[in-house]
Amino acid sequence: MTVFRKSFDLDTREHEQIVDITERVARVVAESGILAGICSVFAAHATAAVTINENADPNIGVDFLAALGKMVRDHDGWLHDRVDDNAAAHVKSALVGPSETIPIEGGRLALGTWQNVFFCEFDGPRKGRRVVVTVLG
Ligand code: ZN
Repeated sequence: MTVFRKSFDLDTREHEQIVDITERVARVVAESGILAGICSVFAAHATAAVTINENADPNIGVDFLAALGKMVRDHDGWLHDRVDDNAAAHVKSALVGPSETIPIEGGRLALGTWQNVFFCEFDGPRKGRRVVVTVLG
């Protein structure tokens, strides 16, 4: 088995933001030279996440953040808000999860037609958000 790992950093501009990282992940897969296997995309943060969804209509990202906001209200009596006032961001990060796994076929991400990979910022804006891409083949 071959393991290829590479990280990249990104800056976010909004308090909550969905960032399409598909091309950056695809570049790591291409660089790995691995033709068949799996790719793990991991956000190394407790107030961010990684998800896969449609990019053609950017309103899906808006709806996704709105839905999470309805489920996890800001400053809703969360105990962690007493520490650094970002409990909702931690809960959203845990619900969405820090990583996704994508099959690799023919040296490329085998995503569905409407699927893209997104970094989810829940406590921005932040500089240097780290995404770790691990390719196994
Ligand atoms: Zn916190």
